[in-house]
Amino acid sequence: MPVNNSEFSWFWFIGSVIADIDHLFVLYSYKIFSWDKLIDAIKFEDKYRIHFKTKYMHSIFGAVATTIPILFISREGALYYFVAYLIHLVLDWPDIDEKQYFYPFKKKVRGFLTIFSKPEIIFTILLLGFYFYQINLF
Ligand SMILES: [Zn+2]
Repeated sequence: MPVNNSEFSWFWFIGSVIADIDHLFVLYSYKIFSWDKLIDAIKFEDKYRIHFKTKYMHSIFGAVATTIPILFISREGALYYFVAYLIHLVLDWPDIDEKQYFYPFKKKVRGFLTIFSKPEIIFTILLLGFYFYQINLF
């Protein structure tokens, strides 16, 4: 994750992935331990009434709340962490599953891409291509 002078930043890396820690809590609380059940539950969240992206982690509230402790470690690191967290939320936005980004407000957002659908996979590959192009890998 090139951020500061193209150096790797743990703050940036952790900020970009930490929001998905709520998936682990959801998997554990609904006892989803098989691969098939996981894929099915992620694809059809509404059918199972499971929301993998919780209001606590997939929200601006989650970004702010988890950035505050980082401020005591490094102000610059906290900025990287917070921005990476927000980018994570923006990249999750196009997915069709329900998200409550503005928690504690009740407003819910949904994107247009069905999880694991062809358009979502193509979108992901395009983003990966853009990422690798940006870091001059190709
Ligand atoms: Zn996410």
